[in-house]
Amino acid sequence: MKKIEKFPKIIIVGAGPIGCYLGQMLKHYGFNPLLFEEHKEVGLPVSCAGIVGKDVFSATVIPISKQSILNVIDGAKINFNDSAFLLKRPSVAYIVDRAAFDKNLSLGLDIQFETRLEDIKKEENGYLLKTTKGEYFAEILIGADGPYSRVRKLLGFNSNLTLYKGLQYRIKKEVPDKDRVQVNYIKPFSFFNWLIPEGNGIVRIGTISNKPIFELEKFMEENGIKGEIIEKNAGPVPIGTCDLVKENAALVGDAACQVKPITAGGIFYGIKSAEILAKAIKNENLKNYEQEWEESFGKEISLCLLIRYVMENIDNKVLKKVFEYIKENAPLIEKMGDFENHSSVLWSLVANPRTYPTIGSVFMGVMKNPKILMRLLRRR
Ligand SMILES: Cc1cc2nc3c(=O)[nH]c(=O)nc-3n(C[C@H](O)[C@H](O)[C@H](O)COP(=O)(O)OP(=O)(O)OC[C@H]3O[C@@H](n4cnc5c(N)ncnc54)[C@H](O)[C@@H]3O)c2cc1C
Repeated sequence: MKKIEKFPKIIIVGAGPIGCYLGQMLKHYGFNPLLFEEHKEVGLPVSCAGIVGKDVFSATVIPISKQSILNVIDGAKINFNDSAFLLKRPSVAYIVDRAAFDKNLSLGLDIQFETRLEDIKKEENGYLLKTTKGEYFAEILIGADGPYSRVRKLLGFNSNLTLYKGLQYRIKKEVPDKDRVQVNYIKPFSFFNWLIPEGNGIVRIGTISNKPIFELEKFMEENGIKGEIIEKNAGPVPIGTCDLVKENAALVGDAACQVKPITAGGIFYGIKSAEILAKAIKNENLKNYEQEWEESFGKEISLCLLIRYVMENIDNKVLKKVFEYIKENAPLIEKMGDFENHSSVLWSLVANPRTYPTIGSVFMGVMKNPKILMRLLRRR
């Protein structure tokens, strides 16, 4: 007798944190997805600073193991040129061992390793996937295959994104402030360097910038950071917008640019997006994924993309004024700031009449810059 499959055959390309979390969500709903991973194990190589907000461990449908946590962060020192301020927010974030974080998420999943997706042929009821380990058929295909997503390219999902360059060194070095990260803006609030203490005599020094090696070396020299480099991590951060659904295929995580445009963090948004996608698959309506995601994250990302664009292109004198204003209002940010929702800070600052001179400076800066004006008119 022919076996009747109750659930559609779902293939997830990419066993990164988001593909794995989606896999767990689908299992939770009774599906049995198959994951393809081009590497021979989950979690390596790492290309991440490994800082996540506390919600990653407290606000997910499927609880995430805390085993990977190395350090707890109570605040940040923010620098721009020779100006600096402190943000104190107890237990606001965790530093994780990213390889261990990903491995925990992958436990119990059906993952086929060393299997790289090479081509996709659309068929009547699904997709024929050509991989380095042979051909597979999927009724529902998910691209969780990271910033360079092959699923995105092969199926022609519309996207408008920039791949920003990230680089990080792990260095043996003791630092006095083990519970505080340091952020040095090259250009507030778009390009920056960081120092993250793992809490175990190792620091992570990294950068998101146009010239990562140059910026990182300069940052280390200026801050007297010396020590044995024990690991180098590099990778792109996809910042922009992207369609999420095309027929019976969908994108999630970095493949779908589900990244915070101002800090480049992608783990929390990716996980929450995977929850929305899994629910849409359960309800047999992939289009719901797009609609619910737009409500939950799309608007926030669009606004932060706009802020990022203005900050990247506006005059340095205006940036200095904005930075000084934010410095003066550090207590408000400590109170109102949300690690995952950056526009909450903007709205709380804008609600304060003392912001008006700073808003005026930004307005004048925008008016003088036709490139920004055009971008504002396009809105997204
Ligand atoms: C330098 C740097 C620092 C960062 N720091 C942070 C941070 O501190 N906090 C934070 O929240 N985010 C951070 N991010 C972003 C974060 O790393 C990503 O958002 C996150 O990894 C996205 O997960 P993902 O599963 O969508 O994609 P990925 O982690 O890229 O996983 C995709 C997986 O798909 C596999 N794959 C790709 N193509 C194929 C194929 N054709 N066939 C089979 N498998 C394939 C890959 O091998 C990989 O395992 C950082 C990024 C960079 C570059």
